[in-house]
Amino acid sequence: RCGMVAIVGRPNVGKSTLMNALVGQKVSITSRKAQTTRHRITGIHTFDDAQYIFVDTPGFQTRHSGALNRSLNRAVTSTLTSVDAILFVIEAGRFGPDDQKVLDLIPPSAPVLLIANKLDRVSDKDTLFPFMQQMSGLREFKEIVPLSAKNSDDIKRLLETVKPYL
Ligand code: GDP
Ligand code: MG
Repeated sequence: RCGMVAIVGRPNVGKSTLMNALVGQKVSITSRKAQTTRHRITGIHTFDDAQYIFVDTPGFQTRHSGALNRSLNRAVTSTLTSVDAILFVIEAGRFGPDDQKVLDLIPPSAPVLLIANKLDRVSDKDTLFPFMQQMSGLREFKEIVPLSAKNSDDIKRLLETVKPYL
């Protein structure tokens, strides 16, 4: 299997940390940077029988409106319609207006996996279930995956979870 995976989310949710963890695994065989016109390829990870191409979505702007940002957002949206899976990253237990704005820019038909990052920061794990239930009402997520981008076991599990979508 081989496919493209985009990582999106508001600033500071841990996208770069997750990207580095996904690409920087010790089992990684190939890892390189490249530019294409439509995607910024941030890393390629060959894992068992699957190859994951992680793409960045530069210019995903939710803070300001205006023609330039609308145009940038259209470019991002077009990227997001052509990937095999989208990892929509939030902080576990937190979902605010900035997260909603990013979610609104994801095409309705795109296969989205919700990644609830920074699980290690959630002291009361009992609060997670109602939070996840609330999140599952926002749109159809293919999977809801709570994890810590810093935990390599979680990263291995995420790669397995994403594999069927490649
Ligand atoms: P980005 O803006 O979405 O790319 O977020 P970054 O990857 O730069 O991370 C923002 C901050 O969150 C940094 O200080 C990270 O160290 C921290 N962070 C990322 N993932 C985790 C996690 O799983 N647990 C904790 N506790 N902090 C995290
Ligand atoms: Mg970043």
